[in-house]
Amino acid sequence: MSTPRPVSPELDAIFDTAEEIRATEAKLKALKVRGNEQAQALAGIPDKRLRLEAAVYAYWHAPEINASDIAFGATGRAHPSALLKLIGPVSVGVPCDRCATDLPITSRAMMKETLDRAQGGSRWFEGYRVLCIPCQEAVTEERHVQWEEKERQTERRRAELRALPYGDYLKTEEWRDQRDWHLWTLLETRQADLGCETCGAQGSRGIFHTTRERLGWGDELILLCETCETALRGADKLIGPPTPDNQLSAATEQRILNAHEARYGDPSG
Ligand SMILES: [Zn+2]
Ligand SMILES: [Zn+2]
Repeated sequence: MSTPRPVSPELDAIFDTAEEIRATEAKLKALKVRGNEQAQALAGIPDKRLRLEAAVYAYWHAPEINASDIAFGATGRAHPSALLKLIGPVSVGVPCDRCATDLPITSRAMMKETLDRAQGGSRWFEGYRVLCIPCQEAVTEERHVQWEEKERQTERRRAELRALPYGDYLKTEEWRDQRDWHLWTLLETRQADLGCETCGAQGSRGIFHTTRERLGWGDELILLCETCETALRGADKLIGPPTPDNQLSAATEQRILNAHEARYGDPSG
């Protein structure tokens, strides 16, 4: 920049601080270099056992010093994993949330992660924050068993629905959900019109099944006026017989229209 520095004590103060930050950062850098050299100097301890104990102590209690330099000083290899193998697991006093055994910690990174998790919210949807490996496996297995049980329940319920007389199916909660979903989908795809799907007529309409397949979870439905219903029924294309439960009541129609309007706003407005 070619513009001269404006004369201002406020600006001078900023530059004083900036200079101090630069100096401190340089000092910090030098300290880190020194610490890492000192870690490598552990190699000068002649007694192997003492050398290792010193390295282990530094590894856990001086996290500011590079793990790879401590490992190099202790083992001659700059790989913390070599040192960690000699150390074995330690405890940081954080118990597993499920079985209450102390979590074995095998590295600084794991220690930090474990402490962070213990202080944070639950990471498992069962509510656990930290779990030992066997408990992680057990919880995963429990989930799997629960999921399988749920699948079996769903299958049983579907078989029940398939076995129901048609008129009785039209009394179930599943039918009402499927009907509402079909009406909602019509509003989504046809922009706020619940007319007959064949001729568009309003007035008296019913919601009918074209197949008994997938009753209760993937119903094939069609919204029809009386004329189109009669025609399709005559052509044997609808499951019957019709009952009051597959007529579209004013209350149901209004409820779906209101829900759609609440979500997307009034299309006529
Ligand atoms: Zn456990
Ligand atoms: Zn029609």
